[in-house]
Amino acid sequence: MAKVKGLKCRECGRPYPAEPLHVCEFCFGPLEVDYDYSRMQKVVNRKRIEAGPYSLWRYRDLLPIEEENPIGSHCGMTPLLHARNLAEALRVKEVYIKNDAVCHPSLSFKDRVVAVAVTKAMEFGFSVVACASTGNLANSVAAHAAEAGLKSFIFIPADLEQGKIVGTLIYDPVLVSVDGNYDEVNRLCSEVADKYGWAFVNINIRPYYAEGSKTFGYEIVEQLGWRTPRHIVVPAAGGSLVTKIWKGLKEFYQLGLIPDCNTRMHVAQAAGCSPIVTAIRNGSDTIRPVRPDTICKSLAIGNPADGYYAFKAVGESKGYAADANDEEIIAGMSLLAVTEGIFTETAGGVTVAVAKRLIEEGIIPRDESVVLSITGNGLKTQEVVFNALKPAVPIKPTLKSFDQAIAERPNLAPEVVSKASTTHRG
Ligand SMILES: *Cc1c(COP(=O)(O)O)cnc(C)c1O
Repeated sequence: MAKVKGLKCRECGRPYPAEPLHVCEFCFGPLEVDYDYSRMQKVVNRKRIEAGPYSLWRYRDLLPIEEENPIGSHCGMTPLLHARNLAEALRVKEVYIKNDAVCHPSLSFKDRVVAVAVTKAMEFGFSVVACASTGNLANSVAAHAAEAGLKSFIFIPADLEQGKIVGTLIYDPVLVSVDGNYDEVNRLCSEVADKYGWAFVNINIRPYYAEGSKTFGYEIVEQLGWRTPRHIVVPAAGGSLVTKIWKGLKEFYQLGLIPDCNTRMHVAQAAGCSPIVTAIRNGSDTIRPVRPDTICKSLAIGNPADGYYAFKAVGESKGYAADANDEEIIAGMSLLAVTEGIFTETAGGVTVAVAKRLIEEGIIPRDESVVLSITGNGLKTQEVVFNALKPAVPIKPTLKSFDQAIAERPNLAPEVVSKASTTHRG
C-alpha cells in the first residue's frame, strides 16, 4: 500500500520526497509525513488492528514504514491502568495511568519513536544512527542500534543521572558527553549530522521519528474499548509527544475508528523549564527559550523544536497547561508510588503534580475521565528521591534485634500495625 505520499512542509505545504529530510528549503519550516488517507481508509479498521501483533506494530498501516520486519517488536502495548487509589487521592472520578515506564525495552516512551526511526534509518540504508538526548532517548537509541546491528553515536549533556548513563553504556555505543546543556548539544548535533551524514533520529530522521508518538494515543483509545478520554495530561520536552498524540486521535476520527474526538490535551512541564506552559498560559504562540534549571532533566529542553505545534494542539483541543516545581515533582512521584505502586521518574512526577493542579484549578472537572501519561521509569532517576525517603531500619539477623529496633522507634510500630490491619483497596 502506497500510504505515504512523501513529506510536506508544515508551514508552506511544499511537497518533498520521502527521504531523510527535515527542513523546508524555502521557508525553513519543519517537514512532516504526508499520508494518502483515502487509501489508508480502505485498509485500516478496528478488526485488522486488533488482529495485529501485541506491539506498536499493530498500527503499522498508520506509520511511515515499508519494511516487512521492523525492529522493536517488543515496543508498545504498555499497560493502561484504571487508577482507583490515585483517583481517590485526587478526588476525581475516573483516572487512568498509561504506563510507558514498563514493558518497553529501555523503560520509557522513547522506545516508540526510536523503533520507528531506526527501522526507517535501516530502510534508507544508514549504517550509523545517532541522537541528541536528555537521557531516555540515549538509552533507547543505543538499545535499538544494538538490536539492529548498527553503530551508534549518542550525544548527551554531561550532567545526566547515573541511571541514564549506565543505561546507555551497557549497549556499547559511542557515548559523547558534552560540557553544555541539551540545547547546546542539539545545536552541535545539527552540525555533526550535516558533516558526517549519519541518521540522527531526532534531527534528519525527525519527521519519521515523531510519528512513533502517535501510537501512545492509539493505544489509549484501543485499550479504553475504542473510546477517547475527556482529558490527557502529557509531559513535554521538545513538545513532540503531545502534538502527535493529538494527531493520532484526529487520524482515528478521520478514518472512522472512533465516533468523536473531544479529548482535551494538557501540557505538563517543570517550573524550571516551562517555555511551552508559559506560552499557553499567556495565550501567545511565541515560545520564548529559557535556560533550564530543574531536577527533571528528561524534560529540560529550553528551546523546544515542536513548542509552537504543542501550543496549537492544546488550543485546538481546548486543553491547558501547568508546571510543577522540584518539591511538587518529588511529591508527585511519591503520590503515584504510594497510591498505585508505580515508580516513575521525574517526568512522571511532573505529570502527576500538574494533573493535581489542573484538578484543583477546575480545568479538569472532578466528574470527567483523565489519562496521566507516565513516560519514564523511576529507577533511572534515583538520586532525586534518595534523600527524601525514609531510610531502611538496620538490624542484626535476630528477632531480638528486630524487637529492639521497633521498640526504639515508637513512631514506627503503630504505623506498621495499622497498615497491616486496614485494606486500602475497596
Ligand atoms: C522525551 C520525554 C518526554 C517528552 O518528549 P517530547 O520531546 O515532548 O516529545 C516525556 N517524558 C519523558 C520521560 C521523556 O524522556
